[in-house]
Amino acid sequence: MTLQVGVIGTGMIGRDHIRRLTNVVSGVEIVGVTDIDQARAAAAAPAGAEVFATPSALISSEKVEAVIICSWGPAHEEQLLACIASGKPVFCEKPLVTSESAALRVMEAEVACGRRLIQVGFMRRFDSDYRRLKAVIDGGKLGAPLMFHSVHRNASVPEGLYTSEMPLNDTLVHDADISRWLLSDEVIGVEVRAPRRSSRGGALRDPVFVLLHMASGALVDVEISVNIAYGYDIRGEVSCEAGVAALPNRPATVISDSNGIRQAIPEDWRERFIDAYDQEFREWIVAASNGTASGPSTWDGYAATLVADAALRAVVSGGFEPVNMIAKPNLYGRPAAMAAE
Ligand code: NAP
Repeated sequence: MTLQVGVIGTGMIGRDHIRRLTNVVSGVEIVGVTDIDQARAAAAAPAGAEVFATPSALISSEKVEAVIICSWGPAHEEQLLACIASGKPVFCEKPLVTSESAALRVMEAEVACGRRLIQVGFMRRFDSDYRRLKAVIDGGKLGAPLMFHSVHRNASVPEGLYTSEMPLNDTLVHDADISRWLLSDEVIGVEVRAPRRSSRGGALRDPVFVLLHMASGALVDVEISVNIAYGYDIRGEVSCEAGVAALPNRPATVISDSNGIRQAIPEDWRERFIDAYDQEFREWIVAASNGTASGPSTWDGYAATLVADAALRAVVSGGFEPVNMIAKPNLYGRPAAMAAE
């Protein structure tokens, strides 16, 4: 059986997902695309796919069984609610939405529908290195996790594309989600410190140092540097009671020449997480073909949104900003049962 999908948003990641769904993963066919820019959608459409005039026309089309949302964040809420109203499984790129109230509206609609329909694009959970790290922590031999040091470095971001708070409202959601998932914990508060500003970052608040306070008492520190020049560098190390577990340096060819001995660094997220993106879609296709969703949920998207909001408040207050979540709806499992999802 082949899952017939429609893609909303044919920008940078939309086109990358179209490539992977067309050439890499199986069990799926792209039957429709749409974008505000119709010419861009037409250029990105695989052979035989229809170019729809609007997201709502794509979502309501009988030929579309499941939807992939790759538009920008502020458009996600309306498109997610339309997918839920149509009962269609949907993969939504992060962020789920851009405000707490929008996250609650989407969650309420999905809960009322009675089954999970949404998977959020937190692809790190599908990365084999992160999965092995989590297996070690969950295995318990190192004892309870006490601290997680997370490093998120981008070579650069396009000048003028983002507001000054982009590292906190766009980038941090990945670190917030992976921290909750790795430690099977929730964030209860956030602090932010801004060190000396990088001269390469223009108006951006870059770098930033974020401290996530977890419900268990564990602490997570996150370095976000989005203009670090040398490449895309993701690191993580978990300090536990009886040992430390860390992500490995990526295996790469070792080059020896007149510059010394070195290994290449990924240019960007597409290269570093290429296998993780493939795997997140393999798992999404299986669940969506059964009319539901697995993996990172609306609850996880809601949690990440609250953490980003608290981080933005913490920049202003200079202190600890609490994260207050509603009680977890049964649809998203027991509070401590994050390991399987
Ligand atoms: P992008 O290059 O700007 O592409 C977004 C596309 O969606 C653009 O063509 C845009 O058109 C279109 N669009 C915007 N609003 C729309 C709407 N209401 N209906 C239909 N099309 C609409 O951005 P991107 O980098 O691909 O990012 C897209 C999403 O993926 C964002 O939510 C981003 O945070 C997320 N993302 C996730 C990852 C990850 O690691 N998981 C990595 C990159 C991006 P216009 O340009 O004309 O507005």
